[in-house]
Amino acid sequence: MTTPVIIVHGGAWSIPDDIVGESRAGTKAAARAGYAVLSSGGTAIDAIQAAVRVLEDDPCFDAGTGSVLTANGDVEMDAVIMDGRTLESGAVACVHNIKNPIELARNVMEKTDHCLLVGPGANLFAEEVGIKRVPTETLVSAKAVRELQFYHANYDCTVHDLFRQRGSGHDTVGAVALDVNGNVAYGTSTGGISCKKPGRVGDSPIIGAGGYADNDVGGISCTGHGESISKVVLAHQVIAAMRTGTDAQEAADKALANMASRVDGYGGVIVLGREGDVALSFTTERMSWAWAKEGTIHSGVNPGEDFREPVDVTNGDVANGDVQNGGASNSDV
Ligand code: ASP
Repeated sequence: MTTPVIIVHGGAWSIPDDIVGESRAGTKAAARAGYAVLSSGGTAIDAIQAAVRVLEDDPCFDAGTGSVLTANGDVEMDAVIMDGRTLESGAVACVHNIKNPIELARNVMEKTDHCLLVGPGANLFAEEVGIKRVPTETLVSAKAVRELQFYHANYDCTVHDLFRQRGSGHDTVGAVALDVNGNVAYGTSTGGISCKKPGRVGDSPIIGAGGYADNDVGGISCTGHGESISKVVLAHQVIAAMRTGTDAQEAADKALANMASRVDGYGGVIVLGREGDVALSFTTERMSWAWAKEGTIHSGVNPGEDFREPVDVTNGDVANGDVQNGGASNSDV
């Protein structure tokens, strides 16, 4: 039996001080939800769906409820899920009015012969599988509205400069899990980037760019500037390095360094090796993350943080009071 482990992220970029607490709590809650599934013998895919759903339902994050807004104030979401046992994957892009896009992505994986459905086709498929439409306003958070207003007032919405100069208030979510049977899975869900052009699709729903899972190697979920991530095919770089024996942390650090030097792009990754080795790395100011293994949850937002606390899987509760075991850098846990 393999020791189960799950790692989640709540996005990279600056994460303003006023939402650091919420962001930290949200990623821990998601790791706890995924770990509860794994601890009771559940599959990596089920753990991913459970963890990402918690993050999609938390308006602190840019996914599902709380998604950032397009330049014209709409909500267009991307999500993906992948099973490292079979290499099956399912994704949706530019989908509207769906509360939990990760659930729709899973339906694409399990009920179609396709990997990716976009726009109206994705919404039509949601109807076919009985996932109901929700009004756009139920997905819109006050934070997302404020952020769009700020962007309109201060920038011309050329996203690359925007992200480098200011960062984003709240962000994309993702998870990677390894279950007791040694199966790896990953999922990512996002509203994309604030002030994006309608129809824009980022890296997140594209396997190989924004993430990947393969039982033979491990899994990864990326966050950050989607256009940069796509240009360097970030997830593929990490997985390809791990496939030839590079350890997960080194592979993650090198791929992010390459993205910075090659295309001046920034972001973060969470990675699991097939033996359950955990790595995370980010080149942005902050990244919200949490991982759970052997009854302990680790978490952090700022560089160098590694808070640890026990997780009680019998009632899904976590003991109060973080204990910080310092010393780790943002690219070394
Ligand atoms: N990578 C996502 C995108 O570009 C956004 C993010 O992770 O912050 O759509």
